Amino acid sequence: MTDFKEALKTRRTFAIISHPDAGKTTLTEQLLLHGGVIREAGTVKGRGAKKLASSDWMAIEQQRGISVTSSVLQFDYDGKRINILDTPGHEDFSEDTYRTLMAVDSVVMVVDAAKGIEPQTKKLFEIVSKRGIPVFTFFNKIDRDARAPLDLVDELESTLGIQAFPMNWPIGSGQILQGIYDLRQKELIPFKNASDHPEVMQDGMDEVELLEDAGNDFDTEAVAKGKLTPVFFGSALANFGVTEFLEQYLSYAPQPAGIETVDDEKVLPDSDQFSAFVFKIQANMDPRHRDRIAFARIVSGEFKKGMDVTLSRTGKKLRLANVTQFMAEERENVQDAVPGDIIGIYDTGNFQIGDTIYSGKKPITYPDLPTFTPEYFNKVIAKDVMKQKSYHKGITQLVQEGTIQLYKAWNSNEYILGAVGQLQFEVFKFRMENEYNVAIQFEPIGSKVARWVDPEQVDQKMASSRNLLVKDRYDRPVFLFENQFAMNWFKDKYPDVDLEAKM
Ligand code: GDP
Repeated sequence: MTDFKEALKTRRTFAIISHPDAGKTTLTEQLLLHGGVIREAGTVKGRGAKKLASSDWMAIEQQRGISVTSSVLQFDYDGKRINILDTPGHEDFSEDTYRTLMAVDSVVMVVDAAKGIEPQTKKLFEIVSKRGIPVFTFFNKIDRDARAPLDLVDELESTLGIQAFPMNWPIGSGQILQGIYDLRQKELIPFKNASDHPEVMQDGMDEVELLEDAGNDFDTEAVAKGKLTPVFFGSALANFGVTEFLEQYLSYAPQPAGIETVDDEKVLPDSDQFSAFVFKIQANMDPRHRDRIAFARIVSGEFKKGMDVTLSRTGKKLRLANVTQFMAEERENVQDAVPGDIIGIYDTGNFQIGDTIYSGKKPITYPDLPTFTPEYFNKVIAKDVMKQKSYHKGITQLVQEGTIQLYKAWNSNEYILGAVGQLQFEVFKFRMENEYNVAIQFEPIGSKVARWVDPEQVDQKMASSRNLLVKDRYDRPVFLFENQFAMNWFKDKYPDVDLEAKM
């Protein structure tokens, strides 16, 4: 039995951010192959499909052929234990994705080398960069014609506002790919079956020389703060450059760090007190049991099956008897886990997103997870007026879980739902129908820009069809502007009213 303080040093917990189709699944698969978790490429999506079929709640994912939920994959490599928190890779956003990014210690950004930085990568990067955690960049698909590497690196720096440090450099791409030059080991890793193109080789090596002359130092501290991103090139599909990437990643990615509590006290991972925070709740993973699973990221101490903890929000004592961890192949019952690990706690309705649990006497409360300004809004009504009770229960529970945000019209108290992505509405509707047996109807209201205002400054006369006045679930006033133009018009008319993007 290893000491948990030693074990936690081996943990590397990250998520992959990318635009759809950049190759996140393919890279994940290669990493799992490296870890010996799977034996064949092509199994991750296959396994996903099987698993989806086993759950009603996943039917929506099947219909759209996408993965709505984030799962956790774990594997060992080179003495390290890697936890990959999967984030949905579809066109749409959900708050789940954002919150998952709050539970990792570093991020891998996969970019299609033919396309460069695409919109979703940018959006996700912005969330991550606020946390100041390390970001590692993998330019993928160099086995296809790619853009000039200097171009890609320039674009990365200018669009994302982060410094880049090439760890290796592609020599050619597509049909004329010669290999990648490892700038740190100073050696060429030839691409298998490459046909010789001396002039491509020459041009590539000239660039390498330029890079070496520029001679920026690799500043590990800047990497740790998320100000400098180590940049790698490779092909996930051809499994080229992946091993090098993984090994370098593991040597620079941070082990779990401490977190500050709401009382400004830093809790270190090797503290003897166990603590964790819930970043995601997923209901009905198994329709036969109607269970909910609260995903918690361990921050400090050692988790032991059956341990007693306190839920800081309510002070309630709980025994953590029924807890799972998510291996690539199956759900396993965990016996013990350490900081950096994610545990899935079977929940009967105790947990909310952002909750802290801790062992021992001294209370620990981590700050709330950020909420995100919704961009889509729909009025919602129950189709069957007889079902009001289940309707309210369903909305209350799903809002608590963080599935969607709830607002009410200022005067009529009509329900208005807000989300950062359209998909959240579909998930909400599906779950209302399947879990609470209530058919609902949406009425789009088209407002897009939400701004909170000081209650003292609000006058109902300020509201119009182009800026609806609503209240959030804490009864705070919010204007929903039709668009940026309507908001600017409002600002001109009421220059004294402060508009806040978030409360
Ligand atoms: P995701 O949406 O980011 O998860 O992307 P996938 O991993 O599903 O990849 C999208 C498509 O790109 C698939 O058809 C992959 O086979 C292909 N692909 C991924 N990586 C590479 C690569 O390195 N080279 C080439 N040529 N194709 C790739």
